[in-house]
Amino acid sequence: MKNFNYHQTTEIVFGTGRVSEAGQIVSKYGKRCLMVTTPDLPLVPLYERVKKILMDAGVAVAHFDGVIPNPTTETSAVGSKMAIEHKADVILGLGGGSSMDAAKAIAVEATHDGSAWDYLFYKEPAPDPSKVLPVVAISTTSGTGSQVTQVSVITNLAERDKSALYNPVIFPRVAIVDPELMLTLPRSVTAPTGFDIFCHAFESTINPGGGAYVDLMAKEAIKLVLAYLPTVLNDGSDIEARKKMAWADTLAGLCIASAGVTLPHGMGMAVGGMYPHVAHGESLAILYPACTRFTAGYAVEQYAFMARALNPGLKSVPDAKAADRAYDEIVKFLKSIGLYKSLREVNMPENEIGALARQCMVLPDYKGNPKVATEGEMIELVKEAFYQ
Ligand code: NAD
Repeated sequence: MKNFNYHQTTEIVFGTGRVSEAGQIVSKYGKRCLMVTTPDLPLVPLYERVKKILMDAGVAVAHFDGVIPNPTTETSAVGSKMAIEHKADVILGLGGGSSMDAAKAIAVEATHDGSAWDYLFYKEPAPDPSKVLPVVAISTTSGTGSQVTQVSVITNLAERDKSALYNPVIFPRVAIVDPELMLTLPRSVTAPTGFDIFCHAFESTINPGGGAYVDLMAKEAIKLVLAYLPTVLNDGSDIEARKKMAWADTLAGLCIASAGVTLPHGMGMAVGGMYPHVAHGESLAILYPACTRFTAGYAVEQYAFMARALNPGLKSVPDAKAADRAYDEIVKFLKSIGLYKSLREVNMPENEIGALARQCMVLPDYKGNPKVATEGEMIELVKEAFYQ
């Protein structure tokens, strides 16, 4: 058994109806709150409800509803201006990964010189822990695990780059995970976000930063997604299945917060940066088959686990043979949830294959893969995802 570290500071408040505790929770961190959301109409009743819950607890609320999926540096700039004007002392991210990540970026940008982009994980100086505003996260998708991570993913449209702030100071103080909030998710969001959970969990098992604790959570998350994603896709109102997905999402978020992700996520971030219309989970679904073919022989035990989780009929075959089947099984699964597609189908221009391959090697995630791609191999991976 290898050595590992595990660190987590977010308090998790999990269960149906728990959103009603938002007022009492947020008011522990401040009396002036900026609530950060997308402008989506189906979520407006939830936004009004949460505002009332906060105001009833004596919290003055300003509502920034300008978050777009794959939030940008502009999103963070406008939200930060509003946080400063409102004299916010706590930021509430209410929504999917985009809203929760925007909240974290705003918590930094509103209290520091420059923009959130100046505080990406590899830049100096790092955000000052004594300045960053506390963040409370309420998740409404089951996908990114952002409610329990120290990560804020943002996109710089001018640079066609998607990158991240990564620092323990942006761990949400509290994550409220109320599966009832996911009942309004359309199928088109449930599928890619659900697959994102699978990816977080699996990649954390092949990342050198993982270990026994992460494996325990990751394997449970993978089993839950495979059992309950098809159920929620058939019937989005199945609250028991939504609960299992929300739990899987939280477990997988804890996994990436500790272990990190690998090649598919590094490539997926590059796709999101260059083609922001592609949803995060959709980009992962496009890349997974090629990455699985590329890596399965280098992490046989983990890919054998993946293949057997996808097809229990492989339980009795040797690990090497099961790992060999991981590619076919993941393709079959993606087809079953309607996510098997190519980069060509999401309108990536063919003449940008080389540029995308170079961008896939900007973030260090690909280096945590059991097999590290060379430049030539990265081009082949992108080509495979483009033409599949
Ligand atoms: P999202 O937040 O972009 O939401 C997708 C769409 O669904 C939006 O229009 C949103 O308003 C809508 N929506 C959300 N909840 C809804 C609900 N309950 N009912 C109806 N509509 C709803 O999607 P996401 O996949 O959760 O987040 C993606 C972002 O998170 C990407 O930028 C990705 O890179 C990032 N991400 C962050 C982390 C992290 O640890 N911080 C991890 C993975 C991904």
